[in-house]
Amino acid sequence: MKKRNTILILGIVSIIILITVQVIILKGVYQGKGEMFNLRYRLFSQDALTAISRRFSTDGFDTARIMINNYSEKAAREIAAITDTAKLSAKKKDVIFFVTKVLNQEQDLSQFLSDYFERRRIDKNFNHKIIVNYFELINDEQRIPIYISEEYAARLPMRRDTVQRGGSPGGFRPLRHVSEILVKSDRSETNYYRLDFDYFIDFRDKQKVVMRDTAASLVLSTLSIIVVVILFLITYKNLMEEKRLSNLKTDFINNMTHELKTPLSTITVAGKTLLLPQIRENDEKIVETARMISKQSVHLNQLINMILEISMWERTQFQIDKKKVKIEDFLKDIVESFRSGGGNGATITQKYNFTNPEIELDTVYITTLLNNLLSNAVKYCEKEPVIDIEGFSQENNIFIKVADNGIGISKNDQKHVFDKFYRASTGNIHKYKGLGLGLYYVKKIAEAHGGDVTVSSKPGKGSIFTVTIPY
Ligand code: ADP
Repeated sequence: MKKRNTILILGIVSIIILITVQVIILKGVYQGKGEMFNLRYRLFSQDALTAISRRFSTDGFDTARIMINNYSEKAAREIAAITDTAKLSAKKKDVIFFVTKVLNQEQDLSQFLSDYFERRRIDKNFNHKIIVNYFELINDEQRIPIYISEEYAARLPMRRDTVQRGGSPGGFRPLRHVSEILVKSDRSETNYYRLDFDYFIDFRDKQKVVMRDTAASLVLSTLSIIVVVILFLITYKNLMEEKRLSNLKTDFINNMTHELKTPLSTITVAGKTLLLPQIRENDEKIVETARMISKQSVHLNQLINMILEISMWERTQFQIDKKKVKIEDFLKDIVESFRSGGGNGATITQKYNFTNPEIELDTVYITTLLNNLLSNAVKYCEKEPVIDIEGFSQENNIFIKVADNGIGISKNDQKHVFDKFYRASTGNIHKYKGLGLGLYYVKKIAEAHGGDVTVSSKPGKGSIFTVTIPY
């Protein structure tokens, strides 16, 4: 039990480790593919920029720069005249809002890029984003810093006190995102302003594309995990089955030893008894002892034959020798000899309704089959045994039902009673003698005839065994 749990826990831990490793690898692959995507489009964008400036002699921001220049000339004069700090701060905000808006709306670079990507037949569905890093107005050589981004300020520490810093210029998100591709960093200065900004693009379908590229790895990883889990489950199940069989074999050997010891010790005692002088003088006692020896030898012989037969069955195919019999008479004979033999005073009722009076079967094996069912019905009964046998034909099969009023079989034991060496747990404590082979025989014999055997039972209420044999 402990070993089984250790194997199970080790297996589960290994699978968790495997899944974790796969997730880490997949994450790496996903990030790698994302970086590859960015790199590819950065190179395309650089090519596009070079092509655009060669072809149109512009970078797409000419209109925006003219508008900012005109605006700056006016704004610089206005700001220079403001003395109130609150008003000054509000005005600076207005200025940076205007500049950012113009840069975003009045540029042609996005259109150029989109056309270029379309011509190259690559993805052209992107959003652009412009982040202003630095902006200052110039009024008669006097510089008026308006805005400096946190990042820019960290790089170039200057006039921190007077400059509008950080925040969100004009409502545009200033923080860069890893998936964004920096296409252009621009710095320009005229008589009225100095501006430093970055132009980014961000592909709407990037995630989809990267996911598609990662899909093969994802499928392979998932498959490998599934294969490992299935392999583990199969191995674990086989291990448990081996363990169950080995336990059954141990039980069988214990039961067999017990079974063999009983007749053997009786014979030993009887042998010793025969040596006693007072017994030898008594003819009746000699005959009685000899009968006992003979009976026990027969029993011993039966047990040994049974073991030999099983090992023979294991090695060769079950050979049956079919003969035509009148089924009803044949069954009645078996029941009769059971009643007169070891029936133990069981009340047996029989009800037959065969539409085909004759059937071909192996009489020896079917006798063993029915005897095993009958003796179990008596053996596993704690009151006066009442056995009802019913036989009938249906759809090219004959059915033989043996119902008893015995101790019954639990749902779980019902699944295993036909297994070799299996004994229901109460059976293993020698309350009821046996080797766990009777029903195994029944099943083997029924199958050898092309049929089957099933059980339905309720603990305490008795059992019904149904044998089907096709004809
Ligand atoms: P054995 O009788 O030697 O133990 P069997 O293969 O005949 O082996 O039966 C297997 C187990 O099935 C028995 O140990 C017993 O627990 C259960 N069993 C078989 N027949 C009956 C029955 N008629 N009523 C209750 N339990 C039964």
